[in-house]
Amino acid sequence: MTQATYLRTVDVSLDELQPFPGNAKRGDVPVILDSLRHNGQYRSLIARQMPDDGGLIVLAGNHTRDALALHGPGPCGRPVKTAQGERPCGICDGEPWEPGARVEIVTCDDDTARRINLVDNKSAEAGTYDRDALAELLSYLDDDLGGTGYTDADVKLLIAPPPSLEELADTYGDPEADDFWPVLKFKVSPELRDAFYGLTINCPNPNDDAERFRYLLDRARTAPDPETAG
Ligand SMILES: [Zn+2]
Repeated sequence: MTQATYLRTVDVSLDELQPFPGNAKRGDVPVILDSLRHNGQYRSLIARQMPDDGGLIVLAGNHTRDALALHGPGPCGRPVKTAQGERPCGICDGEPWEPGARVEIVTCDDDTARRINLVDNKSAEAGTYDRDALAELLSYLDDDLGGTGYTDADVKLLIAPPPSLEELADTYGDPEADDFWPVLKFKVSPELRDAFYGLTINCPNPNDDAERFRYLLDRARTAPDPETAG
């Protein structure tokens, strides 16, 4: 196993970039496209130069490649709307554009290629957020969340998060043991309902249908078996 060796950074037509075979990540391509249109391609893709000119395989940035392909040839005719007004799309700049990407090219062996693909996907989801720092960063954006991947609903949740289980317990008390019991719910004819209430009229707790049901089951269990009761 060898580490990856950086060769060069180049602009490459998307046709020359093969997706990583068996990439396990399913990225949110529309969110990435929205970011690219707002922010431009701020990060290079990482592609492996295959031996014997076997082409370029994308190790990291497979969904950026998909998003650029989704944009398609320019001009897309979709300027970016911001709080300050409109500006050209960050991918095509409102001009003729052939789908391509800025790519850092490396060489490595198969094992390292798999490791890079795996860790690049994994590290993006590992880690946690400082919610206060996140809320502060978002607050600088003047309610224009375009290209951030965040929605208004995300920000509302961040500012007023749903109560924690501890807070719910403080307000409503600790959960009862039967809070998670199954609930039976079914429709019956009025005749069947009357029969149910009639057969359970002697239930000690007649205001509780669950008690009536239990009472009915007890009666059924203690009733003589019609097979043997001559
Ligand atoms: Zn465009």
